[in-house]
Amino acid sequence: MDDKQQKLDIRYLRMAKIWAENSYCKRRQVGALVVKDQMIISDGYNGTPSGFDNVCEENNVTLPYVLHAEANAITKLARSSNNSDGATLYVTDAPCIECSKLIIQAGIKRVVYARNYRLDDGIRLLKQANIEVEYKNIEDNVS
Ligand SMILES: [Zn+2]
Repeated sequence: MDDKQQKLDIRYLRMAKIWAENSYCKRRQVGALVVKDQMIISDGYNGTPSGFDNVCEENNVTLPYVLHAEANAITKLARSSNNSDGATLYVTDAPCIECSKLIIQAGIKRVVYARNYRLDDGIRLLKQANIEVEYKNIEDNVS
């Protein structure tokens, strides 16, 4: 991979991390960006569906209807005139298996993430679907 792409990847991941600050979830704040043809075409952070209270947890347990950042970014595109076919997803945390299914079906071709998760079944599923998956540490990369 060329140096320019490497730098862009780090910057988009940093933006996803800043976007995650919008999340009102307490246990974990996750941000995602969908980039296609060098444009950010969608974004998302973990949170409740439209019309629900901005509360993600009850007794420190995540409520079942909380949407993950990736799901929010992908479904936002379903309401727009654009689509994620061939796009790259930048996400602060390794996608879970549920989001990985959506990523595959949304035609996303590349996933770049910054933080590993305890479970790696989502990452394995993406690789199985021939999606390019890359982990990048944004804490050590100062460029
Ligand atoms: Zn998920």
